Amino acid sequence: MNKPNLIKAESAANQVLIEYEITEAPVDPLLIASKKGIIVEAAPLENCFGQFYKLGDKFIILYSNAIDNDRFKRFTVAHELGHYCLAGHPEYLLENSTHHQSKGEHLSHDPYEREADEFAANLLMPKNLFKAQIKKQKTEGMSAIKSLSNSFETSLISTALRYVKLTDIPAAIILSENNKVCWFSASKAFKDIPNLSWPQKGHAIPRESATYDASPQSKEGKASMSTQDWCGGSKDIEIQEEYIDLGSYGKVLTILTAEDYDPEDGMEEDDSPW
Ligand SMILES: [Zn+2]
Repeated sequence: MNKPNLIKAESAANQVLIEYEITEAPVDPLLIASKKGIIVEAAPLENCFGQFYKLGDKFIILYSNAIDNDRFKRFTVAHELGHYCLAGHPEYLLENSTHHQSKGEHLSHDPYEREADEFAANLLMPKNLFKAQIKKQKTEGMSAIKSLSNSFETSLISTALRYVKLTDIPAAIILSENNKVCWFSASKAFKDIPNLSWPQKGHAIPRESATYDASPQSKEGKASMSTQDWCGGSKDIEIQEEYIDLGSYGKVLTILTAEDYDPEDGMEEDDSPW
């Protein structure tokens, strides 16, 4: 497999939700695993967060006992469950190494890992439930992500990634470390703003941004900024920047939202009399 099939991953997760008649959040991946007869246990793991393997005729999921965050544990187990449920995964992973090791959420370019992450995101944050919850909320940006993260019992990072995938407003998230970009992800409405250049991995965080001053002492902050500060471009569009220092994780999560942006603004008026 050269390219991940994210639609296949989404539909496999939806099938599990239908099979167990799961219609509300939070979804419990440990319960699903136990219904499928998979053994799930905490174990001391080195250099990875999760493992999936077969012993005799039993499938086993291990998660690192170093994980002290229940939401991250849930994502790890859902990811490993993806390797069990996705067509072709068990054969590939079990043939290529006895113990499959997952390094963590959203960091891998391996197509099997990407598919398992997509499966986990769709299982824990089903599209319809997540979109309905976004609509119900009165806020966007960081407070929306925090509230969604509480409803779905998912980590801030995986919730933020799901949020920019499913929100209708222009929104973008940046994960950074030591004021350098780790990755960037944006909603369709944000990507549709013309002439922006996306912050690239390794690029510096803008000095004038609130994120630049993030630290464990200054855990959260916000600022009114322009798209030009973060993404260049010819248009000066007002954005709200909000960040949260992820603490022991050593990273900072930033969200940019342009709630009031109207793509029609500034377009040439049609003054033709016809
Ligand atoms: Zn994996």
